Amino acid sequence: MFTARFPELKRLFDANARWAEEMNEQDPDFLPGTMKGQFPKFLWFGCADSRVPESVLLEQKPGVLFVHRNIANQFHPEDDSANAVLEYGIGPVGCQHVMIVAHTGCGGCIVAHDSPPPAPQAEETTTPLGRFIAPLIELRHSLPAGADGVNDLILANLRRSVENMTKSPAIQTAWELGRKGELQHIYVHGMIYDMASGRLKDLGLSVGPEGPVSLFDEV
Ligand SMILES: [Zn+2]
Repeated sequence: MFTARFPELKRLFDANARWAEEMNEQDPDFLPGTMKGQFPKFLWFGCADSRVPESVLLEQKPGVLFVHRNIANQFHPEDDSANAVLEYGIGPVGCQHVMIVAHTGCGGCIVAHDSPPPAPQAEETTTPLGRFIAPLIELRHSLPAGADGVNDLILANLRRSVENMTKSPAIQTAWELGRKGELQHIYVHGMIYDMASGRLKDLGLSVGPEGPVSLFDEV
């Protein structure tokens, strides 16, 4: 199928063949079973960065995570793609936990952090990437004096995504149904993945139909 023209692609297909073979050896029913449907409890909303592969870092098999990833894990209220994944994920798919996950060393946030203040009709806003990252640049320049590190922008961006998502029609409708007992309680969480250590950390931003919630029982 592949010749030496694209050995880098051939390596991927070879790896896939080995993976499928190992999966079938471990549990011959697993992969055929995925054809029956998906029942993930988690919607991972993260960055497109290649260094933050959700199923790998959470050590999960197919079927556990419903996923949307974009530049710098931004939830824009008018983003049809993100809203469609959210609506479908917490609706028919049945996800209960939406995990919005930022990460250290985020390239989108670094670019926004290093950008000059936005100007109307800026050249950058004529491209999809420019338009998508523009709110991040605006956010960077709205941060108070002293908050000048890229990590502050990464956290501010995460908080804004959590806030935007909780205001979305999909979440508001789900929470209303949840309070009436007609739907499971849906939760939105804000987390950060630390690339250097490989650890996922909760940032205490979780909120559900009953309001803010802690992931841990009070002792
Ligand atoms: Zn990123």
